[in-house]
Amino acid sequence: MGDLRNKKIITVATTGAWPTKENTPHVPIEPEEIAEEVYQCWKSGAAICHIHCRDDQGRAAMEFPKFRKTVELIRARKDCDIIINLTTSGGVGLSEDDRIKPFSELLPEMASYDCGTMNWQHATVFENNPVFLEKLGLLMQEKGVKPEIEVFDPGMIYNAQYYAKKGVLKAPIHFQFCMGVAGGIKGSVKNLVFMKEVMEEVAPGSTWSAFGVGPSAMEILFAAVAMGGHVRVGMEDNVYYRKGVLAESNMIFVERARRIIEEFGCEVANPAEAREILGLK
Ligand code: ZN
Repeated sequence: MGDLRNKKIITVATTGAWPTKENTPHVPIEPEEIAEEVYQCWKSGAAICHIHCRDDQGRAAMEFPKFRKTVELIRARKDCDIIINLTTSGGVGLSEDDRIKPFSELLPEMASYDCGTMNWQHATVFENNPVFLEKLGLLMQEKGVKPEIEVFDPGMIYNAQYYAKKGVLKAPIHFQFCMGVAGGIKGSVKNLVFMKEVMEEVAPGSTWSAFGVGPSAMEILFAAVAMGGHVRVGMEDNVYYRKGVLAESNMIFVERARRIIEEFGCEVANPAEAREILGLK
């Protein structure tokens, strides 16, 4: 297996809640499209896939049949051992019961856990209230699903510290620093350094990954690799490969992340290695 300290996990978030086929014809929307994209991204080096589904109109939705179908199709590729990570937000404004159902019934190895409420893109409220977060954390423990703690600003790292003290979250925690979303912290190297420092102070021994949306994508990608973190790429966070050029697939994001990791002198973690790093069963 080699030295795990030198291994970087690539998470691919192929779809997310926002991009539509009008924004980019390349975003996978239907379960068949998502599962095929995930398979190809796994071949390119992704160890984790973060999954959102859409309704029949292509809108953000937590429709259980879509999640079931997507997960079944990914699991049906017997050679593919990618770690499945299901969203528990789906978008904003979705019902708590609907947000909980996919992970609690399909039992992926991981699911996202958005560790606080924020004003989302100056447009709406992304609500993750304290009652919901306690219920979500405890249910994830009961089901044996590891939370990926998504934090959009440093305050959410302190929330994670509180929930860890309360037993709602169990160490070692895996953080995803989600940067550059309006309403959250701006994506910059300086801010990433600060986020990492806060994490090390309040949750030592944690693992972490990061991504920047929009213009901060490359800065955060390179910085995360240089600073000892893992990375997330994909159309959930960016539909452009570079300024003005739409990404033709999620695979090209994964391939670029792989090149950056390898040029830096690290190696890309395969799913088995990622399981070791994250303490998955
Ligand atoms: Zn997501």
